[in-house]
Amino acid sequence: MTVLGIESTAHTLSIGISKQGRILSNVIDMYSGGSEGLIPRKLADHHSNVFSSVLLEALTGAKLSMNDIDLIAFSQGPGIGAPLSVGVSAAKYLALVYGKKIIGVNHPYAHVKIGEHCCKMRDPLVLYLSGGNTQILEQMANGHYIVLGETLDIGIGNLFDTFARAIKMENAHGSALAKLAENGNYIPLPYTVKGMNLVFSGLLTSAEKAAKKHSHLDVACSLMENAFAMTCEVTERALFLTKKKSLLVCGGVAQNRRLQEMLKIMCKEDNVKFGVAPDEYNRDNGAMIAYAGELLYKKYGAMKIEKCDPITNYRIDRMKEILR
Ligand code: MG
Repeated sequence: MTVLGIESTAHTLSIGISKQGRILSNVIDMYSGGSEGLIPRKLADHHSNVFSSVLLEALTGAKLSMNDIDLIAFSQGPGIGAPLSVGVSAAKYLALVYGKKIIGVNHPYAHVKIGEHCCKMRDPLVLYLSGGNTQILEQMANGHYIVLGETLDIGIGNLFDTFARAIKMENAHGSALAKLAENGNYIPLPYTVKGMNLVFSGLLTSAEKAAKKHSHLDVACSLMENAFAMTCEVTERALFLTKKKSLLVCGGVAQNRRLQEMLKIMCKEDNVKFGVAPDEYNRDNGAMIAYAGELLYKKYGAMKIEKCDPITNYRIDRMKEILR
């Protein structure tokens, strides 16, 4: 089976192609808003503008034409309404015009499955960290996921991006903030965990205040250090609770090397196997949607086109109800 996967939940329009679980191409075009953040209308315009060239490049890269595609998989949510709709509409259009089967894919589920595939892991505890999401996930015997712990306010990536904008960074993004943090020294900032849940907004407010008195390097360092330490603490609690012997970290923020280092140390101490996919698959990407689309198709079959609507608040623990 050859699957074309479309990703458009936030800043990235990406199309990837997989065949029998092998990735043939993965073309990624990310909108960079600079210092103004993610403005939904601008993201949607970006995705519309680059869609046809990204599609062509993905097909050419895989040495295929639309005739060779069996299934169109699209990222169904969670995501920002305007950009998400561009990918969903395009997926429906391609399925109708070329007479292809279609399936909607939960975006976090795709990050988890491509991560397990890359790390050759079966049934790990999953730490999913991105701009809008921060969750600890456990797979049940029926294949569905439950959320053991999560952020009670903003996502960890959103925390970093918002702080980067507050200190007027030109490229207000977590990856740029991480570079700044490398040269900072630690100053005390709030640390808030509630069982296996996290709270980031107090840390953000205190960091914004601290940035008026202290060097931005030091505040960036301390903000990230605390957010990651809090994340490690709740993850370790979930590891002990579930008695899992492996941990997979996935999602955009999983690319952060300092976080990876902290999780590796923790896993070594707890005698747990640690896994993280290459950066290409932790960024938002179409290949993971294609890969996960094939897994879901084998289990549930194709979706009726009338069911293929964007679901902006599509939590991973709602998959059972959506795919039924
Ligand atoms: Mg993502």
